[in-house]
Amino acid sequence: MRILVTGGAGFLGSNLCERLVKDPENYVYCLDNLQTGRMENIRELLDKPNFRFIEHDIVEPIELEVDQIYNAACPASPPAYQADPVHTLKTSVFGILNMLELARKHNATVLQFSTSEVYGDAQVHPQPETYWGNVNPDGIRSCYDEGKRAAETLCFDYHRRYGVKIKVIRIFNTYGPKMDPNDGRVISNFVNQALRGEDLTVYGDGKQTRSFCYVDDLIEGIVRMMNSPDEVTGPVNLGNPGEFTMLELAEEVLEQTGSQSKLVFHDLPKDDPKQRRPDITKAKQLLGWEPKVPLREGLAKTIEYYTGLMLRA
Ligand code: UDP
Repeated sequence: MRILVTGGAGFLGSNLCERLVKDPENYVYCLDNLQTGRMENIRELLDKPNFRFIEHDIVEPIELEVDQIYNAACPASPPAYQADPVHTLKTSVFGILNMLELARKHNATVLQFSTSEVYGDAQVHPQPETYWGNVNPDGIRSCYDEGKRAAETLCFDYHRRYGVKIKVIRIFNTYGPKMDPNDGRVISNFVNQALRGEDLTVYGDGKQTRSFCYVDDLIEGIVRMMNSPDEVTGPVNLGNPGEFTMLELAEEVLEQTGSQSKLVFHDLPKDDPKQRRPDITKAKQLLGWEPKVPLREGLAKTIEYYTGLMLRA
């Protein structure tokens, strides 16, 4: 199986490459423009005979003969995707167009990394795939949310119009090793702040909720989706339904790190969703998948990873 992973040096992409390379029957092309991806994430894969890294921005077309395409390329952390919003939108829209064209040419399957952000500030809770969402089309999150929504549309249109094999997953908040410590996301911020003895930055009153999935669980769901029968196109939610407030998360991080850090409260960013939890009924039925790693256990592994990074720095 010749497999392309775009965004392969990013958090999810690199964890996926690591998993795919373990099978000697696979040959993995890892594509990344290194905007937010990090060579550090794939360093141990570079000398594997069935792995090849290509520095490339998927906004531009590329020619590769492949059987499967995992399209993970796009900055996903709000500060990162808001830094160059026009390029973020191009990454989602031109990126998926280029991948769908490649798939059409080589009869490959495209799996699109979509997101719970397509539900916006959801008014239905928990969110099933049938919910159409509540997205601000011209706010600061729109470059990401609308880009991902348009990418889903393109997948389904290429499928209906040209018969391209597609799979769309909607990924909820995920955490774990290889997540950039400077990503600006809540788990990487809280853990690194606690380890450095700095204040934990809680945005708003900290009562907003998120559901956090450990990365190994997510990767298992993603690979199952890719290898599901062709008629399973999705969209399928992948995430952990365990729901926590940011205050509960902060407490858990402080307890596990034994840190004396205090909480400081900052303004809530604009359009920040108040509640988020996946309805994973469909993933259970179609893929026989559900997350196994509870937050407590996944956090311990994440703390270990960031502690290791700090010791090496
Ligand atoms: N958040 C926080 N402190 C931080 C970073 C984020 O309280 O240092 C909040 C943020 O406002 C949001 C939640 O944590 O309500 C999750 O944020 P993240 O950026 O991790 O993911 P997303 O907003 O994309 O779900």
